[in-house]
Amino acid sequence: MAFADLIPQLPAIELLQRSLHHQRIGHAYLFSGSIRASLELAAMALAKAVNCRKALSDRTPSDALSSDFCDHCDSCIRIGNHLHGDIQWIRPESKSRVITIDQVRRMVNTLALKPNDAEVKVWIMVDADRMNAQAANAFLKTLEEPPGSTLMILLTTQKDRLLDTIRSRCLSLHFSGDSMEAMRTRHAPWLEDFVRMLSAEHSDMMGRYRALGVLTSKLAASRASIEESMKERFLDGLSSEVEASFRKRREDEMKAAVEAEYRRVRTDLLSAFQWWLRDLWLSAEKGSAHQVAFPSLAPEQLRWKPRADRQALLANIELLEDLQRTLLSNVQEALALEVHLLKIQL
Ligand SMILES: [Zn+2]
Repeated sequence: MAFADLIPQLPAIELLQRSLHHQRIGHAYLFSGSIRASLELAAMALAKAVNCRKALSDRTPSDALSSDFCDHCDSCIRIGNHLHGDIQWIRPESKSRVITIDQVRRMVNTLALKPNDAEVKVWIMVDADRMNAQAANAFLKTLEEPPGSTLMILLTTQKDRLLDTIRSRCLSLHFSGDSMEAMRTRHAPWLEDFVRMLSAEHSDMMGRYRALGVLTSKLAASRASIEESMKERFLDGLSSEVEASFRKRREDEMKAAVEAEYRRVRTDLLSAFQWWLRDLWLSAEKGSAHQVAFPSLAPEQLRWKPRADRQALLANIELLEDLQRTLLSNVQEALALEVHLLKIQL
């Protein structure tokens, strides 16, 4: 694997590769975008690229950094498995989902030390917007005087929540989300079941509850697969001899990572539904010829016609936005979903 296989044709990746090629890698990057997993992959790729053994041994004096990585050398493999001591990840801690000043201090202290065997020591902060005020201020000091041979990569899906002073000191790269085509492929199958239930008999409350069932089982399946993959990533390969406190920390990190990823997936699922509601409104507003996100789920394809007027169809979109906001505060998920779904007017 290389950059090109990972996230093809993203302007941000090209830009990164150009800076690598011209040896203009900064000390601090801010990667923003809507998909956290893509940001993590990009950060991992950059950590590999600046440390790849093969790239380093191939290089000529005029070409200090390769613009890619091999993914096979010892360094690439350890980074890929989260087992490289010089490449550290910070994530919001469980429960409060906050990055604390202690976490930032730990990072600052180790940044001051020389790397053990990496060329460049890398710190990757996932959900950097979750730094609390104290943590952000402590971090700012490091950003102002970054130690040599270090690279800090901040990741955020909510860039506007970061302090301006932090944003302005990082090289900022935006990773745009995936294409409409990718969204369709990912969501059309479950969405079809879901909207058929919703639209089939709108006088029937049971239809709404059946639809809710489709959504909640989709969410539960997503959570289970996230838990499985995070377990593999955080705990597999952890020797049985590691200290209990270390294992505990990994488990806490894992829980926070599961929660963060689940929230991302849930947002993504509900956004797909929101696109469908937008399709309905657009068709009512501008006629069915207008470009829609899910043509295969258009009313005529479902042999159905919404009764709700344009105003009501527009209100549905706002209702979904409200649901997304509500879910970000710590309300009970099942209740929020039920309350909002029952208010949808079709
Ligand atoms: Zn390599």
